[in-house]
Amino acid sequence: MLDIQTIRKDFPILERTVYDKPLVYLDNAATTQKPAAVVEKIRDGYYNVNANIHRGVHFLSQAATEAHEEARREVQRFVNARSPHEIIFTRGTTEAINLVASGFADALLSPGDEVIISAMEHHSNIVPWQIQAAKRDIAIMVAAVDEKGELCMDSYRRLFSGRTRLVAVTHVSNVLGTVNPVEDIINIAHSHGVPVLIDGAQSVPHTRVDVQALGADFYVFSAHKIYGPTGIGALYGKEEWLDKLPPYQGGGEMIASVSFEKTVFNELPFKFEAGTPDYIGSTAFAEALRYVERLGMDQIADYEQELLRYATERIQSLDVPVRIFGRADHKSSVLSFLTGDIHHYDMGMLLDRFGIAVRTGHHCAQPLMKALGIEGTVRASFAFYNTKEEIDVFVAGLERTVKMLTKR
Ligand code: PLP
Repeated sequence: MLDIQTIRKDFPILERTVYDKPLVYLDNAATTQKPAAVVEKIRDGYYNVNANIHRGVHFLSQAATEAHEEARREVQRFVNARSPHEIIFTRGTTEAINLVASGFADALLSPGDEVIISAMEHHSNIVPWQIQAAKRDIAIMVAAVDEKGELCMDSYRRLFSGRTRLVAVTHVSNVLGTVNPVEDIINIAHSHGVPVLIDGAQSVPHTRVDVQALGADFYVFSAHKIYGPTGIGALYGKEEWLDKLPPYQGGGEMIASVSFEKTVFNELPFKFEAGTPDYIGSTAFAEALRYVERLGMDQIADYEQELLRYATERIQSLDVPVRIFGRADHKSSVLSFLTGDIHHYDMGMLLDRFGIAVRTGHHCAQPLMKALGIEGTVRASFAFYNTKEEIDVFVAGLERTVKMLTKR
């Protein structure tokens, strides 16, 4: 059992007030708060270990290099990659997907080829493919989502053709909370000889991920959604696939040798890490992973499920019709909804005045909004530091807001 009150002390921001009200932070799917250990790691990095990494002969450079490479090994262990070479540090999920989309299109796609995505993707797993589609004349095929918010596996199966080259789908929907059956998704793709990229932005913070057990060819995620710093994330790629992709950017670090006649690219993972990497961010990222490992991913998942169940029950008790978007059997701790005919934005603005932080709008998933026939939702998303008491405050805030806006 997690001791939530003790855990909350690790997150100083949770103590603050907003408009003189205690902060109730329910916007964890957008970004998570940082434990003191992560912030301290950044401070310590800059105060005590700061020097540019790789190639430095002096003590500090070697210490910073070792810390950065140890961070890579931590990420490797966390997702159970086979080798640290299969972990590329990126700016986050978005950059990781762009890296794969760009490299894949350059090296492996021809006009008429097809990439399968799903109707529940975040824009960051749509637009990079559209950019490549426009350049290379490739087609993007979209697997449908059913009324419960689950991926329609028949629709997915039917999309495969002799021209399918890659599948790129999210593990967990940031709007619906749906946990997709990624093992099945991958097995089906592999039976057609097609590799799979999984967007793990919303899964890695909430559940144990083992990329080898899943069989994913690429798996991407962001540190800031798992209690780590902003501006860094990871791309896991099977060595055989990373070897096939050309470098994403050129510059220092990613070369073995340069002359004006010929440049030889560095080996993995450095081939994809041009320029000075965020070596302070990487160590703080690793610290965040150690933090959640200490709590236990299984305990985190169980507790967050309890919060989701509780919040789902409570908002249905409101004296106004509530539409919940995302009724999948297997859901992550995301609750998207609309109350009566109240606009999501009005609801979010008024909740904010009570110190309650939720997200409103299309959640960077406009095609999904279109499929649902709505413009946006209110989204409350829970982390292990949230409590049932906070959910009570949130539901009381909803009740007051509903009364104010419907003048009951
Ligand atoms: N994919 C999903 C499912 C997300 O929820 C998000 C962010 O909300 C992203 C990708 C993009 O992540 P980032 O902005 O950290 O690159």
